[in-house]
Amino acid sequence: MTGKVYKSTGSWYTVKTELGHTYECRIKGKFRIKGIKSTNPIAVGDVVDFEVETNNNQESGIIHNIHERTNYIVRKSVNLSKQTHIIAANLDQVFLLITINNPPTLTSFIDRFLVTAEAYSIKTVLLFNKIDVYDKDTLDEVRYLAHIYRQIGYECIGVSAKTGKNIDKVKALMLGKVSMFAGHSGVGKSTLVNTIEPDLNIKTKAISSLHMQGQHTTTFAEMFDLSFDARIIDTPGIKGFGVVDMDKEELGDYFPEIFKLKQDCKFNNCLHIKEPKCAVKKALDEDQITFSRYRSYLQILEGEDEHYRTDIWDK
Ligand code: GDP
Ligand code: ZN
Repeated sequence: MTGKVYKSTGSWYTVKTELGHTYECRIKGKFRIKGIKSTNPIAVGDVVDFEVETNNNQESGIIHNIHERTNYIVRKSVNLSKQTHIIAANLDQVFLLITINNPPTLTSFIDRFLVTAEAYSIKTVLLFNKIDVYDKDTLDEVRYLAHIYRQIGYECIGVSAKTGKNIDKVKALMLGKVSMFAGHSGVGKSTLVNTIEPDLNIKTKAISSLHMQGQHTTTFAEMFDLSFDARIIDTPGIKGFGVVDMDKEELGDYFPEIFKLKQDCKFNNCLHIKEPKCAVKKALDEDQITFSRYRSYLQILEGEDEHYRTDIWDK
């Protein structure tokens, strides 16, 4: 049988088949996935093959195969730097909730988040929440930011989790997909999930970034089916923030507007700082690239010396 992992509590996995039957499963023997060193071999969102066993009239499953992942997000341990814990796999998209104030979401945070999402191959949709309380100037700021991020290919929607404004658009994007909600504490993740699915009754503590470091408590993500052919993954208790380890030359690949231009730079290992005939710097001078984006690029690049340990902790 084949199913999707909805919950994992260490040694047991709750697996749901396409027909909607749920089995508690264990892993057969030692599982290793090529190229991944992780403390857990299987995560929420994984698609697995399993055999059903009956013991004392109780059915359970033995997982013997895992399907290839389209993506996965990890939590990295600071102490055991080589060890990672896979939080979730096969995410279709993450909604990043942004508020201009209460709490403020800085563009440096948004950009770091997007870099991580790009590195993990996860689509991000930006939701500017709390538009019901913003004055004209603040709404202008929302429009300006939405313009910046739309220009480089990210879908942006102004929403109100409180009044329900534009939530139909969010639900339309969620159809048939596995989604996650992220953003600083207080931006409205729980309120939004509650507006989308009032009866779900989970205390959403969605993550504030896709790459978590230094969390010592064990975290169990869980996937939930919603009433309208959509699934969400909830990841309680995860707060930290960092950027994926990568080479300096690779960073620009995760800024879509820099990636698009890099073949026009004179040097193919151009870091777009002070190199001659740099297409990125030229675009910046001509206002084709937004300064705040370029500033974020430099900030992340500079942090590289500290192995991207530029943690921003959730408030
Ligand atoms: P979370 O920490 O991201 O889960 O944020 P919560 O959902 O707990 O929301 C934090 C606060 O913001 C609560 O007081 C909510 O009532 C409020 N809030 C959330 N969404 C909205 C919104 O769209 N408009 C307004 N005015 N307040 C909101
Ligand atoms: Zn360049």
